[in-house]
Amino acid sequence: MATGPCALYGKHRMKNSVLVGVRDTNGNYISNEFRTGQLFTCGCNDRIITSGSPNTGDYIRSYVTEGGIQASEWVYSIAGGYWKIPKKYIYYQGSSTLPGYEFM
Ligand SMILES: [Zn+2]
Repeated sequence: MATGPCALYGKHRMKNSVLVGVRDTNGNYISNEFRTGQLFTCGCNDRIITSGSPNTGDYIRSYVTEGGIQASEWVYSIAGGYWKIPKKYIYYQGSSTLPGYEFM
């Protein structure tokens, strides 16, 4: 489900995973499992957020690719932020691999 082939490597090399808060476009949690996700970025700036840790061999689980990642929002009352993701762009992958991506 990559948005397209990587302009730099052919296959996106997703790295620098950072834990981020994840919510839908109304600011609500998407699911208990997907309250946080790992943000991976490729050198071409393509991003993917996964609820699993595919870089360690874990399943990708719930995920959203570049096209579904909207603005991140900072919430002053909790001094934290989250990434807005429309529910319709969330997919599930019950393995640690995804065509077009390499997790490192
Ligand atoms: Zn790339």
